[in-house]
Amino acid sequence: MPNDDKNIDDSVQSWINPVLSSESEDQDDVIIQNLRPTAFNDYIGQEKVKENLRIACQAAKKRGESVDHLLFYGPAGLGKTSLARIISKEMGVGFKGTSGPIIERPGDLAAMLTSLDVNDVLFIDEIHRLPRIIEEVLYSAMEDFEIDILIGQGPAAKSVKVPLKPFTLVGATTRSGMLTSPLRDRFGITARLDYYKNEDLQKIIIRSADLLGVSISEDAALEIGARSRGTPRIANKLLKRVRDYAEEKANGTIDLKVVDGALNLLDIDSLGLTSMDRKMLKIIIEQFNAGPVGIETIAAALGEEKETVEDVYEPYLIQKGFIARTRRGREATKEAANHLNIEFNKSENLKLF
Ligand code: ADP
Repeated sequence: MPNDDKNIDDSVQSWINPVLSSESEDQDDVIIQNLRPTAFNDYIGQEKVKENLRIACQAAKKRGESVDHLLFYGPAGLGKTSLARIISKEMGVGFKGTSGPIIERPGDLAAMLTSLDVNDVLFIDEIHRLPRIIEEVLYSAMEDFEIDILIGQGPAAKSVKVPLKPFTLVGATTRSGMLTSPLRDRFGITARLDYYKNEDLQKIIIRSADLLGVSISEDAALEIGARSRGTPRIANKLLKRVRDYAEEKANGTIDLKVVDGALNLLDIDSLGLTSMDRKMLKIIIEQFNAGPVGIETIAAALGEEKETVEDVYEPYLIQKGFIARTRRGREATKEAANHLNIEFNKSENLKLF
């Protein structure tokens, strides 16, 4: 069993952080990129979403048109970027990708839009973080395939309409609630990606192991799946860590014992909770009588950004039924205390009042 109280040394901690991180900058990412599915047939799970998109692609292809603008939402690492790339492949068109916070000036977006070829896919990750002034450029681009560009300065400035080639905007967000309604309304198809079932993650891991040339047993793949927080990106990262462990401690073959040894060393428990998740639950239960407690207070106690707690840790804990979001703050549930094997003293404390 992972031990919360032991001091995790720096090297193990530096292993854990990339496992949960949604950033695309650590070394593993080159490998993760290579594991990216490139066709609907390689894209495992999310059957309904896949079927709807397949139909939309086929219909658009027949008509020789671009696919309707698409909005994907759901936690990081569930396959939004992969789907956008698959759509461009299936349609036989080009793909350009960017991210909301990277686009600083309307001119940046205009340059990108005017460089698109007929029916190309423009993917904007974290679209909820697009500055409002840039978002407004998108409205006419999405609706009429044209943009207004301001030429010159001061009273002599003139607005010129620039036509665009038809294109498909694919927006991805972890926070659909933060999208303005004018932007949300301009997407023809909105798809929510859910956490994956363990069996789907098992298939993803077996496929990835095959691509990496690693031998893995079915039960070992299922165990990694069960400890991957329902998230393919985490499943692939854990597989890589387990592969390292197998090479060092076993003969390179991944079986159940190897998975257990590697993931326990990383402090990832049977449900995929990391030491940070467990710390968060413990704080709510033991320091705040299981809540309700505000998200800012939790973030301060963990020494994390509020957004990180909301985007990275909390969604999976909510999905597992360990945390409930109420109007007065976050509450931890009895199931959370049971999982951590600690006392749940909420009702006793309430009796005091
Ligand atoms: P997001 O854009 O939602 O953060 P990505 O599309 O970048 O997620 O997916 C992260 C990684 O997870 C991909 O590189 C890919 O290897 C893997 N992945 C995601 N979804 C699937 C899937 N449905 N089937 C197989 N692998 C997947």
